[in-house]
Amino acid sequence: MQNKLLPDITVKNVHILDEKFYKDRGIKAVIFDIDNTLVAHTEPTPPKDVFDYFELLNKWGIKFSVVSNNTVERVDSFCKDLGVPYYGKALKPRKKYLKKVINEMGVQKSETALVGDQLFTDMWGANRMKFLSVLVTAVGEDETSFVSFKRKFEKRILEKNEHKLKEYKGDGVVE
Ligand SMILES: [Mg+2]
Repeated sequence: MQNKLLPDITVKNVHILDEKFYKDRGIKAVIFDIDNTLVAHTEPTPPKDVFDYFELLNKWGIKFSVVSNNTVERVDSFCKDLGVPYYGKALKPRKKYLKKVINEMGVQKSETALVGDQLFTDMWGANRMKFLSVLVTAVGEDETSFVSFKRKFEKRILEKNEHKLKEYKGDGVVE
């Protein structure tokens, strides 16, 4: 069970994921979680650094989309001006919207990375779909007390499996 929750790779934040990271792994599309992944859960819209990162993805020819378990309202307000596919209330690790969104992007599972901050939703969902699973260090405070509660278990799982984890440091470096 624990292996299904572990990421293929970890990274300190999304901005470290550079063109080389995607190209070396044959990744053509990225699915992002929002809360604690791209921004703290308190940020209603993408800040400039996130917009800038999305522009880089466009420049590199990497498609992207957003799939979040948060409310449809929250996800609408964050994504409506991005011009990419997005889904709220996705119930990750369920596959339904993950399947839908790769069809919309027109890519294969093996060409897709999912970037998120939680093991039980994001990493498990990504691994079930056989996407490249990328775990970021959570940005900002936990969104709910339930998330804080889950983090304790996640922390234990990550500590126990530390020897299996690899971190992407940028510029092709994995440690
Ligand atoms: Mg999250």
